[in-house]
Amino acid sequence: MKRHTLVIATKNGGKSAEIKELLKGFPVDIKDLNDFGPIPEVVEDGATFDDNSYKKASFTAKVLGLPALADDSGLEVEALGGVPGVHSARYAGPKATDPENNVKLLDALSGIQDRKARFCCVLSLAVPAGPALTYESFCEGVILDAPRGNGGFGYDPLFYYPPAGKTFAEMSIEEKSAVSHRGRAFADLKREFSKVLIWLDHRFEEEEMRRGAHEICQGH
Ligand code: IMP
Repeated sequence: MKRHTLVIATKNGGKSAEIKELLKGFPVDIKDLNDFGPIPEVVEDGATFDDNSYKKASFTAKVLGLPALADDSGLEVEALGGVPGVHSARYAGPKATDPENNVKLLDALSGIQDRKARFCCVLSLAVPAGPALTYESFCEGVILDAPRGNGGFGYDPLFYYPPAGKTFAEMSIEEKSAVSHRGRAFADLKREFSKVLIWLDHRFEEEEMRRGAHEICQGH
């Protein structure tokens, strides 16, 4: 089996360190965008997490000519029709901070009894020719009236997870990863990773054959 390089479509060293740890022991070399020269930014303007995740993964794979893994995530609040959804990071404005987003969410939910919400995460693993594998996971909870806890990031202090009796911001990283949307999506990917490597081998062979056929047509 060929040893593949997998590029994590992020400049966030923390994210790629976590993924490296997760895929430790598998015959794959993990890199991230910091290992390459500057490449254009992907505009995350898709209508769904799936669109954005695929867009990031396939763009990176095409530009670098290597398999690439991307994730996209956010919070969907039932009473708000799924808002903030794909706009989670910028809910309170283009440069919004986490506390500003949380305040906006509490305002939007003021007086509303139905506090059901879910986090969603979509992972896309794409090859340069276009095809991709997708893993989607959710975590359901409720939005509190006020923040609780100092850990995590984003909407964690408002997101209460009933089975644990805590908000995500009150959990350790390990506790959160065991149940979170992102933790579950990566667990699915990891569970299937041996098959993913076989899929990558096939896509790689197809690409080699296509390149060979192209060269024959060109008379090389
Ligand atoms: P991204 O997919 O890393 O760009 O995350 C999008 C946004 O969704 C983040 O900026 C957060 O506001 C929110 N979000 C995604 N995952 C989480 C989480 O695990 N906890 C809290 N907020 C999250």
